[in-house]
Amino acid sequence: MNVSVVLFTSDLRLHDHPPLRAALDGARQVVPLFVRDRAVDGAGFAAPNRLAFLADCLRDLDAGLRERGGRLVLRSGDVVDQVCKVAAEADADEVHLAAGVSAYAHRREQRLRSALEADGRRLHVHETVITAVAPGAVTPSSSDHFAVFTPYFRHWEREHLRDALGAPRGVRVPESVGSERLPTRTELSGLSQGLAAGGEEEGRKRLMAWLRGGITAYEDRHDDLAGDATSHLSPHLHFGTLSPVELVHRARRTGGPGAEAFVRQLAWRDFHYQVLAARPDAATADYRGRGDRWRSEAAAREEVEAWRTGRTGYPVIDAAMRQLRHEGWMHNRGRLLTASFLTKTLYVDWRVGARHFLELLVDGDVANNQLNWQWMAGTGTDTRPNRVLNPVTQAKRYDPDGAYVRRWVPELEGLRGAAVHEPWKLKGLDRAAYDYPDPIVELADGLARFRHARGRD
Ligand SMILES: Cc1cc2nc3c(=O)[nH]c(=O)nc-3n(C[C@H](O)[C@H](O)[C@H](O)COP(=O)(O)OP(=O)(O)OC[C@H]3O[C@@H](n4cnc5c(N)ncnc54)[C@H](O)[C@@H]3O)c2cc1C
Repeated sequence: MNVSVVLFTSDLRLHDHPPLRAALDGARQVVPLFVRDRAVDGAGFAAPNRLAFLADCLRDLDAGLRERGGRLVLRSGDVVDQVCKVAAEADADEVHLAAGVSAYAHRREQRLRSALEADGRRLHVHETVITAVAPGAVTPSSSDHFAVFTPYFRHWEREHLRDALGAPRGVRVPESVGSERLPTRTELSGLSQGLAAGGEEEGRKRLMAWLRGGITAYEDRHDDLAGDATSHLSPHLHFGTLSPVELVHRARRTGGPGAEAFVRQLAWRDFHYQVLAARPDAATADYRGRGDRWRSEAAAREEVEAWRTGRTGYPVIDAAMRQLRHEGWMHNRGRLLTASFLTKTLYVDWRVGARHFLELLVDGDVANNQLNWQWMAGTGTDTRPNRVLNPVTQAKRYDPDGAYVRRWVPELEGLRGAAVHEPWKLKGLDRAAYDYPDPIVELADGLARFRHARGRD
């Protein structure tokens, strides 16, 4: 066999890449291909922050391939048309691809398979590239997927993981196959100022630093808002510049409670993927309908705008929403609090919040965003669907000194310690000194409205 095509999608790396390894083992030459897919852009996933991170990833992948004698081929258009075209130009016998999880990824696989077969070529789909454990690899006896995390995790932990693969030494690309110019992030506008850099090299640097340092204290510190002591690896997992299989192996080798807690979070990622793979409609429809008649009147729309812009009058909510805008990323505790606030305290549809997150999050991901939103809204897999997080008590617990709030809400810089979480308690001139809004809703009123809506009063 002479030539194989490797279609890169959410796996923009050279280390631990089973499709690339299989292609190199079977062929003399390989075409590493990325298709800027019009359907993905058209579906609203082409947010500036993610496009910028993607541009970094593609350039870095190209650089890595060039160091090994190859290069990346970029095309844009319909993914199936482009793959068939490139396969024909290169006279390739087969195409390798990582298994995807969304309904769209499944349709893409099916369309690709039939189009390639019609041309006499084969498609090979590789599992455990984008997830550590493949969706459907572990299932309960009565269903095609786990609907509750804890039993899923018990099975997930016991699954045998394949070994992680090294990066290839050399890659030979047929000269006849041309590429479009690779994008750069400088061509894009509307980016978050503090957006992280993408690419496998950057991801591996972060991973090594994390394994040497932060992971040890992860169990104790992952909820510390000001400490910002989580791995920040989510964009690298989203774009696949890091392999989840390699991460699990490396964390387990590091060992200790921090590493165990970190591996458990990686299992959450797989958990959501297996839910979405089995229930693709959960990207837009309630996983478990609760009969909600979400608010959408003019007052609700104004409140949503205050939430989006970080002007709700609840400092920890506003801090988190501003972090999202500034970095294209938000601390997990912030995501939980802002999602609870929108869906429960304001009683606004989770899809409104999920859409806003997807416009900004660099790790914005259809499975993990939509299903975490559903979890928090109580329409997903949470076994306590009616719990409501109180932003004041949570702020005092996870930002006890108020440093996180002061970092992102500079109007309140003058308030020391935990007092920063309740500026409405100030009186008269003291209150007037702070150009910061009053709360848009009383927490007790929001709670009562939500309980009533869910038939819990
Ligand atoms: C409303 C809401 C929306 C979210 N949207 C996304 C999203 O679009 N993309 C995304 O990757 N994560 C999402 N998360 C999950 C989580 O907040 C982020 O993965 C995490 O904050 C990323 O930071 P980190 O890499 O430092 O995480 P760490 O705490 O270091 O965790 C390590 C990795 O585990 C995975 N992980 C951690 N928590 C979760 C979780 N609850 N669900 C699934 N995977 C998890 C991530 O891949 C993460 O990078 C969302 C959570 C909520 C509550």
